[in-house]
Amino acid sequence: MTPHDAATNGLDVFIVNQDNVVIYPDGQEKTLLAPDKAAFNPQSYTTDGWGDGISYLTATAPVREFIAGQSLGWRIVVRQPITRTLADVRHLQRVVLLSLAAATILFLALVWWSATRFSRPLERLAALAHRIEAGEEKTRLEVADAPQEIRSLAAALQDMADALLSHQEALAQSNAQLEERVTERTAALAQANAELHQLARRDALTGLANRFAANERLQDEFLRMRRHGGSYGLLMLDIDFFKRINDTLGHAGGDEVLRHVATTLRTLVRESDFIARVGGEEFMVILPESSLADAARVGEKIRAGIAASQPPIDRQVTVSVGVALATPEQEDMDLAVRQADTQLYRAKEAGRNRVAGGPQSAA
Ligand code: GH3
Ligand code: MG
Ligand code: MG
Repeated sequence: MTPHDAATNGLDVFIVNQDNVVIYPDGQEKTLLAPDKAAFNPQSYTTDGWGDGISYLTATAPVREFIAGQSLGWRIVVRQPITRTLADVRHLQRVVLLSLAAATILFLALVWWSATRFSRPLERLAALAHRIEAGEEKTRLEVADAPQEIRSLAAALQDMADALLSHQEALAQSNAQLEERVTERTAALAQANAELHQLARRDALTGLANRFAANERLQDEFLRMRRHGGSYGLLMLDIDFFKRINDTLGHAGGDEVLRHVATTLRTLVRESDFIARVGGEEFMVILPESSLADAARVGEKIRAGIAASQPPIDRQVTVSVGVALATPEQEDMDLAVRQADTQLYRAKEAGRNRVAGGPQSAA
């Protein structure tokens, strides 16, 4: 019954009787065995000493009864030096520890590998995305050696970046178009405004400046004179017996005469002088940088020029002219206008087709 590897494993097998006396193997010193009684408890094991200074792992088992009710009280005792028993445990401990260390190293390597596999491509992707953000629009979000999931992510990001860039481009283009249109419209508006400005200051019938423009020009001239000194001449003209012209030729004939007088007036004054139609058949001429004598001379030139002109009717057209001078000591811009009007009235009174208000008439 002794196991065949008992010797190699340091196993000793004994059979003891009910008095704990070794009866097998033969020749054993009974005194060699002085184990504690507890060590021989059936079905138990112990590491108690055997009195020889060596610790053993001991196990006992009762010998089966051969005749029912008559137990021999024998036991089989097996012992093994504790150092020999623990040798396997120590070995197992070492194996377990080594396996644990190897598993840990393997696990860490795996963690490092998978982290590298995912984090490096993600870092590269982030760097590429930053380059696109910084304006390198040609940058491609390519991570060819990355795992499938990251390649899908890169493709999705690329699609998104492409869509954003094309939207941005379209926006910039439509902005440019919009700006171009705004510029065009602004220019058109400025031109329309300029035309409106002109229209508001033009007399539609004769193409001369109207009363509104005349008032503006008077104000400019008056302020310039107050600042820089000098004087300017003012002529008020009124066509003589115009009502008669209208009555005989009709309103259209009257208009023809008005246009004729306007055209003739233009030829009789300087480019720098200003002519306006300020009423039905009344005109105003502003003569910058002039004396009263200059103004009277121009007034006479106009009177004579119109009287000698060839009107579109078979009768002579004449004008009466009132002359006045605006000077810096005048406080009121309209004073010279009123004076010219008064002189015009005097010219009419005096028989028409004449000039009043010049130096002689004032004297
Ligand atoms: P006077 O010599 O005193 O100035 O006599 P007049 O007939 O010219 O008298 P008045 O100045 O009162 O008459 C001006 C007329 O001019 C009255 C009006 O019917 C006419 N008239 C005013 N504006 C226009 C116009 O735009 N076209 C035409 N055809 N006639 C106009
Ligand atoms: Mg009149
Ligand atoms: Mg008149």
